[in-house]
Amino acid sequence: MDLKVSFRDPDLLHRIIDEIKHTISRPWVIMEICGGQTHSIMRHGLHQLLPPEIELIHGPGCPVCVTSIELIDKAISIASNPDVIFTSYGDMLRVPGSKLDLYSVKANGVDIRVVYSPLDAINIAQQNPAKQVVFFAIGFETTAPANAMTVLMADKLNLANYSMLVGHVRVPPAIQAILGSHENRVQAFLAAGHVCTVMGYWEYFPISDTYHIPIVITGFEPVDIAQGILFAVRQLEHNKAEVENAYSRVVTQPGNIAAQTVINQVFKTCDRNWRGIGIIPNSGWALQDKYERFDAELKFEFPEFQPEESSLCISGQILQGIIKPPDCPAFAVLCSPENPLGATMVSSEGACAAYYHYNRGNL
Ligand code: SF4
Repeated sequence: MDLKVSFRDPDLLHRIIDEIKHTISRPWVIMEICGGQTHSIMRHGLHQLLPPEIELIHGPGCPVCVTSIELIDKAISIASNPDVIFTSYGDMLRVPGSKLDLYSVKANGVDIRVVYSPLDAINIAQQNPAKQVVFFAIGFETTAPANAMTVLMADKLNLANYSMLVGHVRVPPAIQAILGSHENRVQAFLAAGHVCTVMGYWEYFPISDTYHIPIVITGFEPVDIAQGILFAVRQLEHNKAEVENAYSRVVTQPGNIAAQTVINQVFKTCDRNWRGIGIIPNSGWALQDKYERFDAELKFEFPEFQPEESSLCISGQILQGIIKPPDCPAFAVLCSPENPLGATMVSSEGACAAYYHYNRGNL
């Protein structure tokens, strides 16, 4: 069976949508956490197939979008050092810092290299012993195991010229922050299936209990997302608040223990500043003290930063589901993927980019 085709099967999708329509009796607000899910919803027009009682709002699960402006300013500062080769995934390069982005710095001749794996950065460090090689380690729980592996490798190879600028973020504390906000409107969550593939979903039980809210582990294809919504609606209609796995072909409750072991070996939890949102307690990972010699924030000195967000960008409200991208006055007028004012318009997982690419004709 071709899984990809099957999970985009229109007949199956319409049967699930019909089931949602038969089940629902009143309005519900459901948040998909992950920007990958937001893009899938928009790309496949899933939001237009759902009954009008369902409002989907888009969560902060876009790692590029939530990386703090201060960390981007630090990345630019490190990269501008002539003794440094700075390495990063490509989608971080267009994200605006206070005044510049990494792309414009690279265009001025600074040695910034796009990598497709953190192991590429290790190879570059081995090939360039006279340079300091820094990897911009951002992302949720999905990218953390591979990034942690590079630290173990660098340690084993005794690589003195490798370090990471760490901006890792964690999903469960972000869900708690949204639920604890007085502006919260979310009545059920679709949790990100790929994050739960790594971490399992045991962390969600106390959140669901405390806030009496359904949390459904959901995949990324249209049928997956529709099924996640159906599970959430069934719970909401029956006043249930459970953690349910709608992505069981991939996710198990304990998750990938080997990956979690590597993460815990290298990282410790820390408070993290989320762009547009602010500091969320215990929402990040930083390097364990044992590996602090690989911490670029300790290896390099920085000028005093005054992080400045565009006064026009209200992506913080979008990342918390308070408003939607078309509600931003700059959307598609002053702000576009070619001329982004905020990170949510840059990233392939950003909500503003999703509306811009797939939903402008429906506004
Ligand atoms: S449309 Fe642009 S300016 Fe408005 S919130 Fe999104 S990224 Fe920021």
